[in-house]
Amino acid sequence: MKKLFDKMYNTATKLLNKNKDLVEKFDHSLVVSVLACKSEKLYIGMNIAWWHSVCAESTAVSNAYQAGEREFKYLMAVKLKNGTNEFYIIPPCGICREMFSELDMSMLQVILKQDEKYYTKSINELLPEY
Ligand SMILES: [Zn+2]
Repeated sequence: MKKLFDKMYNTATKLLNKNKDLVEKFDHSLVVSVLACKSEKLYIGMNIAWWHSVCAESTAVSNAYQAGEREFKYLMAVKLKNGTNEFYIIPPCGICREMFSELDMSMLQVILKQDEKYYTKSINELLPEY
Protein backbone atom coordinates (compact mmCIF):
# COMPACT_ATOMS: atom_id res chain seq x y z
CA MET A 1 0.00 0.00 0.00
CA LYS A 2 2.96 2.33 0.51
CA LYS A 3 3.11 3.09 -3.22
CA LEU A 4 -0.58 4.13 -3.31
CA PHE A 5 -0.25 6.10 -0.07
CA ASP A 6 2.85 7.90 -1.42
CA LYS A 7 0.91 8.70 -4.61
CA MET A 8 -1.97 10.11 -2.55
CA TYR A 9 0.44 12.15 -0.41
CA ASN A 10 2.26 13.50 -3.47
CA THR A 11 -1.06 14.39 -5.13
CA ALA A 12 -2.08 16.35 -2.03
CA THR A 13 1.21 18.17 -1.53
CA LYS A 14 1.39 19.08 -5.22
CA LEU A 15 -2.05 20.71 -5.04
CA LEU A 16 -1.20 22.43 -1.75
CA ASN A 17 1.98 23.87 -3.27
CA LYS A 18 0.03 25.03 -6.32
CA ASN A 19 -2.41 26.91 -4.07
CA LYS A 20 0.05 28.24 -1.51
CA ASP A 21 -1.04 31.78 -2.34
CA LEU A 22 -4.42 31.05 -0.68
CA VAL A 23 -2.70 30.32 2.63
CA GLU A 24 -1.19 33.78 2.63
CA LYS A 25 -4.20 35.51 1.10
CA PHE A 26 -6.66 34.16 3.67
CA ASP A 27 -4.14 33.85 6.51
CA HIS A 28 -5.22 30.33 7.29
CA SER A 29 -4.10 26.76 6.81
CA LEU A 30 -5.11 24.79 3.73
CA VAL A 31 -6.22 21.14 3.60
CA VAL A 32 -6.38 18.77 0.63
CA SER A 33 -8.02 15.35 0.88
CA VAL A 34 -7.41 12.51 -1.54
CA LEU A 35 -9.96 9.69 -1.73
CA ALA A 36 -9.00 6.38 -3.35
CA CYS A 37 -11.93 4.35 -4.69
CA LYS A 38 -12.27 0.68 -5.55
CA SER A 39 -12.06 1.73 -9.22
CA GLU A 40 -8.48 2.82 -8.38
CA LYS A 41 -9.32 6.42 -9.32
CA LEU A 42 -8.36 9.22 -6.96
CA TYR A 43 -10.72 12.09 -6.11
CA ILE A 44 -9.53 15.33 -4.61
CA GLY A 45 -11.12 17.89 -2.33
CA MET A 46 -9.73 21.15 -1.01
CA ASN A 47 -10.78 23.29 1.91
CA ILE A 48 -10.44 26.96 1.08
CA ALA A 49 -9.98 27.87 4.71
CA TRP A 50 -12.97 29.89 5.56
CA TRP A 51 -14.48 29.20 8.96
CA HIS A 52 -17.81 27.99 7.59
CA SER A 53 -16.43 26.29 4.51
CA VAL A 54 -16.82 22.61 3.72
CA CYS A 55 -14.04 20.26 4.76
CA ALA A 56 -11.70 18.92 2.10
CA GLU A 57 -12.95 15.41 2.90
CA SER A 58 -16.56 16.38 2.09
CA THR A 59 -15.52 17.84 -1.24
CA ALA A 60 -13.54 14.73 -2.19
CA VAL A 61 -16.49 12.48 -1.28
CA SER A 62 -18.88 14.69 -3.25
CA ASN A 63 -16.61 14.61 -6.30
CA ALA A 64 -16.39 10.82 -6.13
CA TYR A 65 -20.16 10.37 -5.82
CA GLN A 66 -20.72 12.76 -8.73
CA ALA A 67 -18.46 10.56 -10.86
CA GLY A 68 -20.53 7.49 -10.01
CA GLU A 69 -18.21 5.99 -7.41
CA ARG A 70 -19.88 3.99 -4.65
CA GLU A 71 -17.06 1.99 -3.11
CA PHE A 72 -14.36 3.83 -1.21
CA LYS A 73 -11.09 2.41 0.05
CA TYR A 74 -8.72 5.01 1.48
CA LEU A 75 -8.77 8.65 2.45
CA MET A 76 -5.84 10.92 3.29
CA ALA A 77 -6.03 14.55 4.39
CA VAL A 78 -2.91 16.70 4.23
CA LYS A 79 -2.58 20.14 5.78
CA LEU A 80 -0.26 22.97 4.83
CA LYS A 81 0.08 24.94 8.02
CA ASN A 82 -0.03 28.69 7.74
CA GLY A 83 3.38 30.32 8.06
CA THR A 84 5.29 27.13 7.28
CA ASN A 85 6.24 24.98 4.32
CA GLU A 86 5.41 21.84 6.27
CA PHE A 87 2.80 19.28 5.41
CA TYR A 88 0.93 17.22 7.99
CA ILE A 89 -1.29 14.21 7.49
CA ILE A 90 -4.27 14.94 9.72
CA PRO A 91 -7.24 12.90 10.94
CA PRO A 92 -10.75 13.89 9.82
CA CYS A 93 -12.80 16.13 12.09
CA GLY A 94 -15.81 14.80 14.00
CA ILE A 95 -18.28 16.05 11.40
CA CYS A 96 -16.45 14.18 8.63
CA ARG A 97 -16.26 11.02 10.77
CA GLU A 98 -20.02 11.20 11.18
CA MET A 99 -20.44 11.87 7.45
CA PHE A 100 -18.47 8.68 6.62
CA SER A 101 -20.69 6.75 8.98
CA GLU A 102 -23.96 8.27 7.73
CA LEU A 103 -23.00 7.67 4.09
CA ASP A 104 -22.30 4.02 4.87
CA MET A 105 -18.61 4.30 4.05
CA SER A 106 -17.77 1.68 6.66
CA MET A 107 -15.15 0.04 4.44
CA LEU A 108 -13.15 3.28 4.23
CA GLN A 109 -9.72 3.33 5.86
CA VAL A 110 -8.28 6.67 6.91
CA ILE A 111 -4.54 6.97 6.37
CA LEU A 112 -2.47 8.52 9.12
CA LYS A 113 1.28 8.75 9.66
CA GLN A 114 3.53 8.47 12.66
CA ASP A 115 7.32 8.23 12.80
CA GLU A 116 7.40 8.41 8.98
CA LYS A 117 5.25 5.28 8.69
CA TYR A 118 1.72 5.11 7.36
CA TYR A 119 -0.99 3.32 9.26
CA THR A 120 -4.75 3.13 8.79
CA LYS A 121 -7.82 3.44 10.99
CA SER A 122 -11.29 2.24 10.11
CA ILE A 123 -14.33 4.46 10.50
CA ASN A 124 -15.44 2.29 13.41
CA GLU A 125 -12.11 2.91 15.13
CA LEU A 126 -12.42 6.66 14.57
CA LEU A 127 -16.07 6.80 15.63
CA PRO A 128 -16.50 4.06 18.24
CA GLU A 129 -19.86 3.15 19.74
CA TYR A 130 -21.79 5.13 17.15
ZN1 LIG B 1 -14.16 17.64 8.49
